[in-house]
Amino acid sequence: MRVAVLGCGYVGLVAAACLAELGHDVICVDTDREKVEFLDRGESLIHEEYLPEILARHHGKRLFFSWDLKEAVHQSLVVIIAVGTPANESGDADLSYVETATREIAIALNSHKIIVEKSTVPVQTSAWIQRSMVLNGCSASDFDVVSNPEFLREGTAVTDFLYPDRIIVGSRSERAATLMRQLYSKLMDGSYSAQAGAIPAPTDAASVPLYLDTSPETSELIKHASNAFLAMKISFINAVSVIAEATGADIEDVRVGIGSDKRIGHRFLRAGIGYGGSCFPKDVSAFQAIAASCGTDFKLLQEVRQVNEDQLTRFVAMVRKALWNVKGKKVAVLGLAFKSDTDDVRESPAIKVIRELLEQECQICAYDPAAMERTRALLKDSIIYAADPYSAMNDADALLILTEWKEFSALDLTRVRGLMKYPIVIDGRNLYSAEQMREAGLNYYSIGRPPVEVVHPLPVRANVAKIS
Ligand code: NAD
Repeated sequence: MRVAVLGCGYVGLVAAACLAELGHDVICVDTDREKVEFLDRGESLIHEEYLPEILARHHGKRLFFSWDLKEAVHQSLVVIIAVGTPANESGDADLSYVETATREIAIALNSHKIIVEKSTVPVQTSAWIQRSMVLNGCSASDFDVVSNPEFLREGTAVTDFLYPDRIIVGSRSERAATLMRQLYSKLMDGSYSAQAGAIPAPTDAASVPLYLDTSPETSELIKHASNAFLAMKISFINAVSVIAEATGADIEDVRVGIGSDKRIGHRFLRAGIGYGGSCFPKDVSAFQAIAASCGTDFKLLQEVRQVNEDQLTRFVAMVRKALWNVKGKKVAVLGLAFKSDTDDVRESPAIKVIRELLEQECQICAYDPAAMERTRALLKDSIIYAADPYSAMNDADALLILTEWKEFSALDLTRVRGLMKYPIVIDGRNLYSAEQMREAGLNYYSIGRPPVEVVHPLPVRANVAKIS
């Protein structure tokens, strides 16, 4: 099938490359000319496993990049909208990029198209797209609007796309429903995974994904409710971690105990410094705003957001407590991306922690395997950028672990101890056990677990953190 993808961002680029991998002819369009030029030169722009391989495989053959939206629409039967939907001041989703894209599609329409809404949008957006198309001169019979939310996770985006748990399609016409099944047929009949050179399936991939044909409203609601639910799981375990910290319980064992109940599951149940990224924060607040517009006060979502904010405040308080005074101290930071295996720093809790510490006049020396460049664009020269984890901690008063990169869980702790001025590690991702830290002679503070104080323990005080 001929497909146009509007937006060469984290979702659009991965979707375009993966659709080419499935045998479709794809043009990926962006208004950002620089991005298009980079992609055209063969640079993948984002850090994502397998993306460079499939871009190299299809670029110039079945996959093209362009800023000419009109031409891309002309040549395509399916037009996928994958533009950003950031939060606006009031927390609602800013749908202006979706509206602009819709208007441009309407102006370019030359034959019947299936317009696929892949951006995460509030329920009933497909109806707005439909109306906007008509207001911009199209006849309702010239197009179908389909909701097909994207569930990929940054870091495993390519395999999430090619081996999904489920494909959700919300449409109002038989024709659109049939074409969408064709778009994904290779994922449904197993022919993609069987093909030579296929990207390997993750071990936990579903043998056949669930394919749900439904209404656009249901499909849109599924996406927002999914993200809100996942954010809720994270906030739930973080709220429990506060009780664990205050009572001497161990949140890691609590997590294993809770998660092994099949009804609950282990995933998204790790205590830490809270969720971030370009999706959860904005999607939870947009979902809350939609609930309010439907006349219901979804208070649970407010609590999910509050717990998330408190978790960060509590972590900074933990740093302060471990260091006694933070002003003028040199703090090594490992991890800048909002999660591991990505270079994305949008709404990264790590960046928020750093900003707080800079406010308090700390010196920060940081390292991340993928997110240095994007962090530099945000924080400029306010911090020092280290070439590797160990040079970040040279002569540091404390080490902070803020992203759960695998390489940060296998540090040579004796070397760490030798490099640092004070033997203090504050771990926002619970990557180490108390025994490992005790053996290395490091004072260790983590989330929801008793502290390890091998070097000059302070007299015990009730550990009840108060948020102000
Ligand atoms: P992004 O900001 O990385 O990319 C959006 C791209 O769209 C930008 O490159 C921008 O220049 C381009 N754009 C804006 N207006 C355009 C137009 N009229 N025509 C062509 N291009 C245009 O955003 P993203 O992370 O890829 O997210 C896109 C959407 O997908 C959002 O709604 C997001 O919530 C959703 N989503 C994101 C993820 C994720 O992990 N990032 C996962 C699932 C869903």
